Amino acid sequence: MLRTLRRIVQEVNSAEDLTQALNLIVIEVKQAIAVDVCSIYLNLPDSAELTLMATDGLDQAAVGQTKLMMNEGLVGLVAERSEPVNLSDASSHPHFKLIEGIGEESFHSFLGIPILHHRRLLGVLVVQHTQERSFDEDHVAFLITLAAQLAASINTAEITGELSSNKTRLDKKKDIMVNGIAGAPGVAVGTAVVVFPEADLEAVPDRSAKSVPEEIKSFREAVSQVQQEIVNLKEQMGGLLPAEDKVLFDAYTLMLGSDSLAGATERRIEAGNWAPGALRATIMEYSLGFDAMEDHYLRERAGDIRDMGQRVLARLLSAKPEQPEFQEGTILIGKEISATQLAEIPRAQLAGLVCASGSNSSHVAILARALGVPTVMGAADLPVGHMDGQEIIVDGYQGTIYLQPSSGVRAEFLRLAEEEQELSEGLLGEAMKPATTKDGLTLPIYANGGLKSDLLPNQQALVDGVGLYRTEVPFMVREHFPGEAEQTEIYASILRTFPNQPVTLRTLDVGGDKSLSYFPIEEDNPFLGYRGIRISLDHPEIFMTQLRAMLRASIETQNLHVLFPMISSMQELNESLELLQRARTELQEEGLDIPSPRTGVMIEVPSAVYLAEQLARKVDFLSVGTNDLIQYLLAVDRNNARVADLYDENHPAVLCALKMIVEGGHKAGKSVSICGEMASEATSVLLLLGVGVDSLSVSMASLPSIKWVIRSFTRVRAQELFERAMEIQEPGEIRKMLDKALVDAGLGALVRAGKH
Ligand code: PEP
Ligand code: MG
Repeated sequence: MLRTLRRIVQEVNSAEDLTQALNLIVIEVKQAIAVDVCSIYLNLPDSAELTLMATDGLDQAAVGQTKLMMNEGLVGLVAERSEPVNLSDASSHPHFKLIEGIGEESFHSFLGIPILHHRRLLGVLVVQHTQERSFDEDHVAFLITLAAQLAASINTAEITGELSSNKTRLDKKKDIMVNGIAGAPGVAVGTAVVVFPEADLEAVPDRSAKSVPEEIKSFREAVSQVQQEIVNLKEQMGGLLPAEDKVLFDAYTLMLGSDSLAGATERRIEAGNWAPGALRATIMEYSLGFDAMEDHYLRERAGDIRDMGQRVLARLLSAKPEQPEFQEGTILIGKEISATQLAEIPRAQLAGLVCASGSNSSHVAILARALGVPTVMGAADLPVGHMDGQEIIVDGYQGTIYLQPSSGVRAEFLRLAEEEQELSEGLLGEAMKPATTKDGLTLPIYANGGLKSDLLPNQQALVDGVGLYRTEVPFMVREHFPGEAEQTEIYASILRTFPNQPVTLRTLDVGGDKSLSYFPIEEDNPFLGYRGIRISLDHPEIFMTQLRAMLRASIETQNLHVLFPMISSMQELNESLELLQRARTELQEEGLDIPSPRTGVMIEVPSAVYLAEQLARKVDFLSVGTNDLIQYLLAVDRNNARVADLYDENHPAVLCALKMIVEGGHKAGKSVSICGEMASEATSVLLLLGVGVDSLSVSMASLPSIKWVIRSFTRVRAQELFERAMEIQEPGEIRKMLDKALVDAGLGALVRAGKH
């Protein structure tokens, strides 16, 4: 059963459209559990009814014609209750309604299973039998599991289907809306460019072939290279394999050149797809045929076919080193998008970003905010493979995407973008002023950075220095660990950009969702695993190189602050400080005059909250990494779209933790700064001001609004708001109170524009 289930889900995922997907399901299910009828009714978008979309067993002419109200008949009952209904004699049930003319009369037993996706009813899966017997528990369990697994695929297939039918409806386009999570504020209208991991055949998107003959030529070359590769492999195996096993290699070379693989791929290219997309579609279709086979040996061959496809793909892509062309107005789209992929596209060309996974605390979202790129994260229903080249609107305030927008919706969003531009320009004046509260307290405001383009000399006048430079970012865009000289140059250029201000360089913080291609870490629980300071302490050869480079870089400007990430114990801090001291001594012994840097600890792990005072006694400052602190305090993976609504900076536990950290730091006589994203949100800044933090480090894009907030309140008022929030306890209510405080203080424009 498990194998059947997996096969059906795989087949549905590679179906070309919704009709094909639904037909596959009804045929396969009818066969798998030996029933007389299997049908699917869907509640199509914008419809109040359930429409029979596919059936194996009832009259085919009824497909698309038979429609039921949401509470009509037994199918309606399943929909209304969102529960399975299992009956041995359907006609005796009070809800039974005979639908004339579809051939239902002879079936007695009925089992209906709701298909639910994110609490929304997509439809009902029904099986029927002529015999009067209720379905056994195994069948019910099988269909419930299948329906749960298929819901997401059906939803995505629905959107794909709408996309292609819209193409033929040129003058009357329908806006297709896909919901995700607001990742970075702003709206953008542009053209989708899909990025994908190169080694992954399944992730290759459809893309129009620029030149059919060229694509066919490179495909043929790639196939013959792989055929040669296989011949070489066979020879290498020499006497190691018995003759009958070596025959397999010949079979592979033949298969690669066969009409089923090569011929079918070329036909797909001729129909307009580029070679990698055509290859993916062919390999998926072909391998599924093998997957479905009963014979274990033949089933195993499906894996070989995919492996062969992967090899051809690698050849094809290495022959195509050029990146997709990034035009102005590019909306970057991917199932996953790494910080590296984001860094590769020139800022001027990048209008927006959509990621099918992740949430607004994922690193790519943080970088997008730093760059001011409207972003939607966690858009799981988006048919990424079909998006390349499509016009798309990104609403980074609401976390919504519009595909193939109508002219009316496009005009509305262009107007919004213009308004937003005006608000940003209006706020620019604020960025120049100091962040002084109405009762005269000036809060230093530092900048967060990591990308080349987010810390520039002209920002010196706007900020008091750099509060967080994520050194892992330059590590991520390279192909090996940068050496001491290279790192010294990178750090010196940042220290020199802000020569008279403190610049905080955080030591390497890889692991979690930040990976280095040349230092792979495979773990089940990466955020609770090998990350940040744990890696640095285990690898003094990497850590010492970095510390030496930071210290050398600071000789000229003497403004270095070193910040240690992910500290969870006194021992980790002590060891880090010892290594820093050792690096300094080594350099001094080499004759260099190294100034003593200031040091800080990131408070981003719950254990560090309880140790705040002791940790603070050992260093010069504490810096709270709210992004991680919130995920660890609330046990909510910052990258998991499914639990993103549980990630809440207004949670009372977060506010209590902040209070403890500030009190601990101050008891030790040290300053407490906030460098997580919480410091870049207008409402949260009121709470941070209220709890008594000494400075903030924010993304440049949010600097004007943050300064505006601070300048519009007294610290006393912020303290009142913090105390009130601690009493309210309910995050949604706290948010409303803070929004109201902004509106009352004349900052309603921030709330309306979603910059709160
Ligand atoms: C944080 O965790 O709040 C932080 C600033 O670090 P990062 O987002 O890079 O993990
Ligand atoms: Mg962190």
